[in-house]
Amino acid sequence: MHVFVTGGAGYIGSCCCEYLLDQGHQVTVFDALLTGYRQAVDPRANFIEGNLADYAAIDSAIKKASPDGLIHFAAFIEVGESMSDPLKYFRNNVANALNLCQAAVENQVPKLVFSSTAAVYGMPSNIPISEDEPTDPINPYGEAKLMFEKILSWQHRLKGLHYCALRYFNAAGASRNYGEAHRPESHLIPLIMEAAEGKRKLIRIFGDDYDTPDGTCIRDYVHVLDLAQAHLLALQSDFCGSLNLGSGFGHSVKEVVEMVRRVSGKRFTVEVVARRPGDPARLIADSSAAKRILGWQPVYDSLEQIVQSAWDWRCKNPDGYSS
Ligand code: UDP
Repeated sequence: MHVFVTGGAGYIGSCCCEYLLDQGHQVTVFDALLTGYRQAVDPRANFIEGNLADYAAIDSAIKKASPDGLIHFAAFIEVGESMSDPLKYFRNNVANALNLCQAAVENQVPKLVFSSTAAVYGMPSNIPISEDEPTDPINPYGEAKLMFEKILSWQHRLKGLHYCALRYFNAAGASRNYGEAHRPESHLIPLIMEAAEGKRKLIRIFGDDYDTPDGTCIRDYVHVLDLAQAHLLALQSDFCGSLNLGSGFGHSVKEVVEMVRRVSGKRFTVEVVARRPGDPARLIADSSAAKRILGWQPVYDSLEQIVQSAWDWRCKNPDGYSS
């Protein structure tokens, strides 16, 4: 297949492109490089620097590639920033993405896979969370992702666009050559690793008074290469709709801190501070629908494998992509 990937210079996008190329597919990356890195684009991929705000740019890129499928990762991802600057998120993740939707329909792209999020569920009442859980986002980031899912569903009903929205839980780990290097960094595993590397003084745990066995929040960490596998399966499937992607296992913040200590062999300071507003105590996926419908079979299903791959990538790339 020839797969057109928006946001292929970002964390999940770059790992997914490497996976697709390893599987023998052709890849075209379309990325504005606002938060992604040129070095994160696999040299085997075609690269087009462009912004989704520019309809002519995305339309001509898709026309030229004439892809068999499209994966849409390009988006802003900072939940906290979405609370202070909501319009930035609605403008980019919804309004600009309309251009992509229109160009996909105009150019008859056979299938669009959308990078969605567990944040569409907000504060869910049932754990594990299935796709039947009501969607009720508690921040503009999650709301914008849900809005775009709904737009895709209308484009499907009215214009025949085939799509699949994949709602990831906590993406983590690294592929052979690409890893997590956000700017600024706000995600737990890379932050703990920065503390282990001595790049930050300490790691702060946001609250240890939750109703969980050790008092810290529980999340479902899913390996980025398992996510990549699901994207390829979704492109190849006739299924239209939304699916959860998680490992199905929950790990507390303290367990993750301990795992980084074990894997890295480093000592670092940990401080417990107040809760971060808007953090649910537990988020664990029920991904049985993705397994049943797509035939998804996660391979990296232990926290140790996830943390080990992230640590190996950092050891090989001590300066991330900045070097
Ligand atoms: N977390 C933390 N300290 C940090 C960053 C995150 O204790 O410096 C916690 C956060 O409260 C959440 C978990 O780690 O319970 C995962 O947070 P992250 O931001 O990586 O992903 P999220 O679950 O918010 O999507």
